Amino acid sequence: MAIRTGKQYIDGLRDSRQVFVNGVRVEDVTTYPAFRRPIEAIARLYDLKHDPSLQRQLTYLSPTTGNLCDICYLLPQRKEDIVKKREAYKIFAKENYGAMGRSPEFMNAFAAGLSASKKWFGRAGKTYETNVQKYYEYVRENDLFLTHALGTPQTDRSKPSHQQKEEFLHLGIKEETSEGVIIRGAKQLSTNAPFTDELLIFPNGRQFTNGDEKYCVAFAVPVSSPGLKLLCRETLVPNDKRNLFDHPLSSRFEEIDAMVVCEDVFVPWNRVFFYKNLELANTSREATEITSHCQHQSAVRAVVKAGLAVAIAKKITDSVKTDIYPQVGEKIGNIIAMMKATESLLFAAEQTAIKVEDSHWKPNQEYLSSYSILFPKFDTQIADLIRSIGAAGLMLTPTIDDFLGEAGEIFDHYFAGAAMDGISRVQIAKLAWDFIGDSNAQRVQHYERFHSGEPMFLAAGFGKTANVSEWLEMTEQLLEEGRSEFKKFTEEASEVH
Ligand SMILES: Cc1cc2nc3c(=O)[nH]c(=O)nc-3n(C[C@H](O)[C@H](O)[C@H](O)COP(=O)(O)OP(=O)(O)OC[C@H]3O[C@@H](n4cnc5c(N)ncnc54)[C@H](O)[C@@H]3O)c2cc1C
Repeated sequence: MAIRTGKQYIDGLRDSRQVFVNGVRVEDVTTYPAFRRPIEAIARLYDLKHDPSLQRQLTYLSPTTGNLCDICYLLPQRKEDIVKKREAYKIFAKENYGAMGRSPEFMNAFAAGLSASKKWFGRAGKTYETNVQKYYEYVRENDLFLTHALGTPQTDRSKPSHQQKEEFLHLGIKEETSEGVIIRGAKQLSTNAPFTDELLIFPNGRQFTNGDEKYCVAFAVPVSSPGLKLLCRETLVPNDKRNLFDHPLSSRFEEIDAMVVCEDVFVPWNRVFFYKNLELANTSREATEITSHCQHQSAVRAVVKAGLAVAIAKKITDSVKTDIYPQVGEKIGNIIAMMKATESLLFAAEQTAIKVEDSHWKPNQEYLSSYSILFPKFDTQIADLIRSIGAAGLMLTPTIDDFLGEAGEIFDHYFAGAAMDGISRVQIAKLAWDFIGDSNAQRVQHYERFHSGEPMFLAAGFGKTANVSEWLEMTEQLLEEGRSEFKKFTEEASEVH
């Protein structure tokens, strides 16, 4: 197999997966009204790889089979490959205007990070290194769509996993056999799980404690595995009836989130990446290269999203000519600055990319950590600035039916902007509201804040690990100058006495 088409991707979702929404089991996710259009949006990304004008940018030749593969799986062999991947990520992200955080690129980059880190997994035994590499090759050659679930459910955060009120509220190993392990319990949460082919279970890098060993496991299973249940949150866009005028983003890009429950799911040994290993579970986030590859993709998508924000802000002010006021101009300038700052961190991560053990390249994690700490704050500020710029205009948003209805002309007349008709002005306002105010937009803002992990833990971890030795040395020199002066004064004072 090589790169799949959108149709092949959709056909692959018609299996025995157990997905529950609003109290019912979804028979076929591809036709379920709330899922159909997001799945089609993802399918378009698969079709892009078959577009002759884009194929060279979006694919590469597999080193093992010669198949055409999605470039997001590429383990960069040259520094330029990282730039090439960025350009591809951007093409994919622009297809959904940066509105889908968990389109296939994210986890394809995760898979590349897995392969890049295979030796680290091998610390628990050569077999795990092989499992990781073989799994990476399997998903790459079959062009599969993955999701992951890392965190434990918020049952009782004051206690470790083994002290929760039941043994398998948190996902863990219930049993092991000669063929594999039996998994029971839940992980919270997994975005787009019902739309994917494969689920990866990993720890989220928080500290497991002694006694938690059975919860310290990493593995991959097909989403259709017997015993695997996906318990979805309420859908925010209930059906596929929204039109692109009224809801240009939420009508097609809602990403569903689901709790993952394993009721004795069997995982063969060749799909286990580590097992009952406290040390690997607690260090997998910092010690592997997975995060740098994922966050590289994630930063590109953030730039595309921030670019849309810039354009929305400009179009709103242009539509009613508030752009003549410097106070409004300042707000737009701030949005652009945040977009450019995000882009700069991305470029810096590429510019200072690191060659790993004479083997492959990885983007510089320090700049990507900075991105992941700062962008959630930028995103909140950007939404607030658009709200402030749009003011009541964001509420006066009649629908397509109003313009086509019996009072259509009146709507068009009174909703008109400075140099545009009512329909055009309302279209901009509706886009802005779909971007910051609609319930799907609220979910995306929540996603931006948490998807990389709890922001407090991210910043606290970065505070400990970031390399700031140059500045510590410089400051040490400054302090040393003061100490010398102090010593001199002390000596002079003792001479006087
Ligand atoms: C929209 C969305 C999509 C997501 N998609 C995915 C996905 O696809 N895959 C995936 O694996 N994860 C996903 N996540 C989960 C995400 O990684 C977590 O939300 C994030 O790691 C924070 O963990 P938590 O939600 O369990 O919060 P918690 O850890 O429960 O934290 C809740 C609050 O309590 C505080 N707190 C908790 N523990 C401590 C402590 N020990 N010390 C001090 N304060 C503490 C936190 O600071 C926070 O304020 C998603 C989250 C969201 C919101």
